[in-house]
Amino acid sequence: MVTVKPVEIPGMECETPHFLDAQRQLDEIALEMGLDPELHERLRYPKRALIVTVPVRMDNGTVRTFTGYRVQHDVSLGPGKGGIRFHPEVNLGEVSALAMLMTWKCALMGLPYGGAKGGIRCEPWNLSIGEQERLTRRYTSEIINIIGPDKDIPAPDMYTNEQTMAWIMDTYSINVGHTVPSVVTGKPVSIGGSLGRQEATGRGVAFCVHRACLEFGITDKSPSVVVQGFGNVGGVAARQLFDSGYKVVAVSDVHGGIYNPDGIDIPRLQAYISEMGRVEGFSNCKNVSNAELLTLPCDVLVPAALGNQIHERNMTDIKAKIIVEGANGPVGPEADHYLHEKGILIVPDILANAGGVTVSYFEWVQGLMHLFWSEDEVNKRLEEIMGRACDQVFAMVKKTGLRPRMAALRLAVSRLAEAKRLRGLYP
Ligand code: NAD
Repeated sequence: MVTVKPVEIPGMECETPHFLDAQRQLDEIALEMGLDPELHERLRYPKRALIVTVPVRMDNGTVRTFTGYRVQHDVSLGPGKGGIRFHPEVNLGEVSALAMLMTWKCALMGLPYGGAKGGIRCEPWNLSIGEQERLTRRYTSEIINIIGPDKDIPAPDMYTNEQTMAWIMDTYSINVGHTVPSVVTGKPVSIGGSLGRQEATGRGVAFCVHRACLEFGITDKSPSVVVQGFGNVGGVAARQLFDSGYKVVAVSDVHGGIYNPDGIDIPRLQAYISEMGRVEGFSNCKNVSNAELLTLPCDVLVPAALGNQIHERNMTDIKAKIIVEGANGPVGPEADHYLHEKGILIVPDILANAGGVTVSYFEWVQGLMHLFWSEDEVNKRLEEIMGRACDQVFAMVKKTGLRPRMAALRLAVSRLAEAKRLRGLYP
C-alpha cells in the first residue's frame, strides 16, 4: 500500500523568534478583547514584504552586493510609516516585527498611517560616506515602486540620519522628475524638515515621565530619574527633565554610567560630553556600569539605549517605581509581567517613544501643505497628541485592569479592527 506523507506547510519566511514574539503579543490581546478571528489572522502577517539585492561600487573599485528590505505590515489607516536601519543583524523577521510595532504605534497615537520598516544588512561603521551614499541611492531605486508620500514614507532609524533621508529624497525626486520632500521625514530643516523633529522623541519621553508620576501619585517636587543611554532620546529626555526640576541621579552611554544621588547638572554634563565624548569621569559622580545603573534606587527609570535590557536575570533587582520605555522593547516579556505584578508602572514604548513619529507626521503634513510651523507650534501639537494618548491608555488600564502595554495595544488593535471592518475585504 502506498502511504501518503502529510504535506508540511512551511511557515512564512519572516517567522523568526523576534517576529514570533511580536505576533504572540498580538495573539494575547486578540484573545483578551475577543477580536474577530479573521481580522486577527490578517493582522498576524505583513501585507507586503520586498527583498532587494543592492550592488554597490566600493571605494577600492570592487562591487559588493548587500541585501535590503522594506516591509509594510498594514496600511488600512494610511500610507506606511517607519524607519530604515543599517545594521549587520537586519533580516526579514526583525524588519517585519518592527513594521508591526509601527502599525500599533501609529494607530495608538491616532496618526493616519500604517506600519512599515526597512533596512539594509551591512556594517555601516565600515563604509565610507561615499559608499553609504551609493548604497542608500541604489536601495532607494530598488524599493521606489512601493514608497512615496501616499504609499510609504521612510524615516531614520539605527545608523541612518538626516543625511540618509536627504539622499533618499533626492534619488526619489530625480526618478519622478520633480522635488518630493514628503517622501521621507527626518530630513534636514533646510530641505523641508520640521523644527522640533530632532528633539521630539526625547521630549515625548519626558512628557510621559511627568504624566506617569502624576498617575502613580509621586508627590515629591523633584522625583529622581535614572536614564540609560545619552543619545537623541536619552540625552534630550534627561535635559528636558532637568529643566523641569527633576533630579537626574544617573545617566549612561555605551562606555558606562555615572551616579550622584544628589543630582547631576545636565547642561554641564552636555558640555563635558562634547569635549570628552563620554559621560564617565564627570565631576562629583561615581562611575557605575550599565548593569548597576538599571538597579539603582530611583522614582523613574528611563531605558533609552537598546532592547531587552530588563529581563529574567535582573528583574528582581529593579528598584524604580516607574519605568518609561525610551528605547524599543527594553523590558522583556517575563520582566514585564513580573514588574507589573510587583506594582511597578511601565509606560510602554509604543506610547513613550511615539513623539518622534508624531512630529514626523507634522513634517509630512507641513511638506504637503508647503506651510511651515514654528517650533512652539510643533511642541504644542506634540503635547496635545501625547496627552490624549496618555489619557486614553491610563483610562483603559483603569477600565480593564490590563497592564499599560496591553491597554495601549488594545486601543491600537481595536482602531485597526474597526478600519478593516468598515473597509471590508476586497474583492
Ligand atoms: P542614539 O544612537 O542617538 O543614542 C544611543 C545611546 O545609547 C548612546 O548614548 C549610546 O552610547 C548608548 N548605548 C549604546 N549601546 C549601549 C549599551 N550597550 N548600554 C548602554 N548604553 C548604550 O540612539 P537614539 O536615537 O537615542 O535611540 C535610542 C533608542 O530609542 C533605540 O532603541 C531606538 O530604536 C529608540 N527610538 C529612537 C527614536 C528616535 O527618534 N531617535 C524613536 C523611537 C525609538
